[in-house]
Amino acid sequence: MKNIKLSALQENEKTIVHVGHVRVGDGFCVIAGPCSVENEKQTIETAEAVKEGGANMLRGGAFKPRTSPYAFQGLGLKGLKILKKAREETGLPIVTEVIDTRDVPWVAEYADVLQIGARNMQNFSLLKEVGKTQKPVLLKRGMNSTIEEWLNCAEYILDGGNPDVILCERGIRTFETYTRNTLDISAVPALKELTHLPVIIDPSHACGRVSLIPSLSFAAVASGADGLMIEVHVNPLEAICDKEQALTPAQFGTMMEKIRVLHQFVSDSL
Ligand code: PEP
Ligand code: MN
Repeated sequence: MKNIKLSALQENEKTIVHVGHVRVGDGFCVIAGPCSVENEKQTIETAEAVKEGGANMLRGGAFKPRTSPYAFQGLGLKGLKILKKAREETGLPIVTEVIDTRDVPWVAEYADVLQIGARNMQNFSLLKEVGKTQKPVLLKRGMNSTIEEWLNCAEYILDGGNPDVILCERGIRTFETYTRNTLDISAVPALKELTHLPVIIDPSHACGRVSLIPSLSFAAVASGADGLMIEVHVNPLEAICDKEQALTPAQFGTMMEKIRVLHQFVSDSL
């Protein structure tokens, strides 16, 4: 990395990404919501529940990059309209994924943060396209990517003229099969050495199991991450996708109480 001239590499000033009244990179930011937007009732009820639990932003996919072409692909425009309604009802900014370069301009009209998923981290055309927008970008780490490759992808967005990039560690592929992926917690302090960009953790896709999500979230706080992205569903048993990793609003609320205490402790002591 030494020989590469990257503007994503550390400068004195930390980047704070402003999303409405939320400042990512200043304090601890929690993005929560369903894996996918399924219908208006599920999305709005989940949005209200995560707001109640203390989330700062709402997540939800209207375009789902699914491993199988026969799996639910998302509601598309209808899903974006539901997210817009959820924002109107709760005031929570919306984080939603864009998977196709052709969709970037109009998805950006609905989203407050454009998410680039792990499978598209190195989709350079898509990176260039979101780099042309004025919307913050949440760039997930590819499951087979090194930190250096990831920072180069952030660079595509910065170089395109968009300075607002949030990095999201979501687990990488290892030989372990008990968890969906392996959370690379060391990525957080490593990125804090390397870059000025904010770094958040997605424990939901990292482990794929409800029972492990609180522990990984606490580890994220202790590691110095700037926030979390967590999947929550009003009725996980009926979730169309990723039901094994969806917290109930009650589980989310309990975890958030502990996160607040832990974050206070970590900020006071470290
Ligand atoms: C998601 O957050 O909805 C998602 C698909 O995650 P990832 O890209 O990390 O697999
Ligand atoms: Mn998911």
